[in-house]
Amino acid sequence: MTDGLGRTIDYVRISVTDRCNLRCAYCMPEEGVPCIPHSQILRFEEILRICRILARNGIRKVKLTGGEPLVRRGILDLTAALKAVPGIENVTITTNGVLLEELYDGLADAGIDAITVSLDTLDPKLYQAITRRDEADRVRRGLEQAIQKGRVPLKINCVPLMDAERQGLLEVVELARAQKVHVRFIEMMPIGLGAGFPLLREEELRGFLESRLGPLTPCADVPGNGPCRYFAVEGFQGRLGFISAVSHRFCETCNRIRLTSDGYLKTCLQYDCGAALKPVLEAGGTDEELEARIRQALADKPKGHEFGKAAPFAGREEKGMSQIGG
Ligand code: SAM
Ligand code: SF4
Repeated sequence: MTDGLGRTIDYVRISVTDRCNLRCAYCMPEEGVPCIPHSQILRFEEILRICRILARNGIRKVKLTGGEPLVRRGILDLTAALKAVPGIENVTITTNGVLLEELYDGLADAGIDAITVSLDTLDPKLYQAITRRDEADRVRRGLEQAIQKGRVPLKINCVPLMDAERQGLLEVVELARAQKVHVRFIEMMPIGLGAGFPLLREEELRGFLESRLGPLTPCADVPGNGPCRYFAVEGFQGRLGFISAVSHRFCETCNRIRLTSDGYLKTCLQYDCGAALKPVLEAGGTDEELEARIRQALADKPKGHEFGKAAPFAGREEKGMSQIGG
């Protein structure tokens, strides 16, 4: 499937819930956001039906996200069912890791192709300050299990949100030294609450890391679905990666769409545009009708984000990352 600008779209991020068991300061307000009523959340059959249509149109890779995807009941069954959709080659998940200890083996048994754990610091006090929940130990145990069992490729996603030393980013990086775990830094995007946080740009962070670890050498040996650029460090088994939507805009090669938990097919992170699929499902629409909506949304996919623009502009997405699906 190509969009109106000729970009090949083969990757969908599916938000299976807008609920979360953490309250990361840059993603969700302390009191949470009003939850979408259960009746409006896509049922698994609906997600699978949309995925079958997407797969017939060239989608090959699925990322499960949220909110926190592991809080959605039945997530293991959904994972296994997605793996069985003809045409889907790769199903991965991004999780905060709170429930990983309980669900790791289930995810591996369901055939998940990779797990990404979001972890901004290893310091328990700071972790609690950032996430507003006392879950650092549970996440650490989940990670240890995932590393020790090694049944599924593992990545860490880390969002720099303060001075690198204060956040303990070198300790996070150390996770990549002794084992083949890749640590990726995601530049803070000005979406939702993220707009209120300082941006630690990739160049600055790379400079800091090189001053401590030695040269970071570009490499291309990590499989993945997106815009992450990887670097090797002498003595490290894993790679360090940078996903820098602000300082290294990658819209020209965007390969993705998003499906929100209430059935909206979003074609760009920063714009409120795409196709509302839930009403079509509820009205008993056919696969052909759904496909027509999807194709029209793809034809209209925006050229790129406007992260540099401070003032609100027409069509700007007002929802936060936990509602969009990261
Ligand atoms: N709850 C899961 C988790 O935390 O991995 C999945 C959803 S979360 C929205 C997906 C990813 O988006 C996380 O790695 C999170 O750190 C990141 N994220 C949230 N808000 C962000 C922002 N404003 N800029 C960059 N990354 C952000
Ligand atoms: Fe929840 Fe993930 Fe957002 Fe943190 S980043 S509040 S874990 S959805």
